Amino acid sequence: MSGRVPAGPVAMYLVMIGPPGAGKGTQAERVARERGLSKISTGDMLREAIQQGTELGRRAKAIVERGDLVSDEVMIGVVRERLARADAARGFVLDGFPRTVAQARALDSMLADCGSLVVVEIVVPEAELVRRMSARRICAACGANAGPDDCQCARCGGELVLRADDGESAVRTRRLGVYARQTEPIVGYYERRPTFRKIDGAQSPDGVAQALALAIDSAFGVGKSLRLKT
Ligand code: ADP
Repeated sequence: MSGRVPAGPVAMYLVMIGPPGAGKGTQAERVARERGLSKISTGDMLREAIQQGTELGRRAKAIVERGDLVSDEVMIGVVRERLARADAARGFVLDGFPRTVAQARALDSMLADCGSLVVVEIVVPEAELVRRMSARRICAACGANAGPDDCQCARCGGELVLRADDGESAVRTRRLGVYARQTEPIVGYYERRPTFRKIDGAQSPDGVAQALALAIDSAFGVGKSLRLKT
């Protein structure tokens, strides 16, 4: 199997870019639900693999927990396999991939029509990112993200804990540095495409969702996104 995602006239392929704490995961989940897309989060996939102790999890654990990036080779393989599944061809939102220019190039090579990729960058000032990361909790049992006022997991009732890579300020700082050095250059890779958009992530989740919906519709073409809902 080539792992190429065929170009479907109605499928929406969306990439969310933004630093840790920008709200990509929250918004990706919402937009996936609203538009019937598969949400593919490499961070969630890695955390699940670590929790289950799979080979990928064993290879990734120390890297993720110190705030570095898992190798391009491994991540490209993981995403290639995931995008080869049937649901992905019907439309997806990618959260956490690509994280390097090499990953962005590889993603283009997996798509029959890379011009159809909608890319949205969520911009948030650094001080706000640090504040959000140190407040963010996930479920110890199922890994779901918790809302700021939750005291137990809304999905399974599990205990809420800090994410291993959010807990220490040195790791948070490292991840922001890794983002600036390794991930931000992908903005330069995408920004001249007509399907690239930038939105302000320093507002309420509803405000960001609204900005995101406008960005997506203007990038994708309202006609096509309406057809997706049928
Ligand atoms: P955040 O939402 O805070 O940016 P994620 O949940 O997306 O974090 O990812 C957590 C960690 O998983 C990253 O810091 C990194 O170690 C690893 N990771 C996730 N996606 C990738 C990727 N595409 N390439 C390399 N490492 C990744």
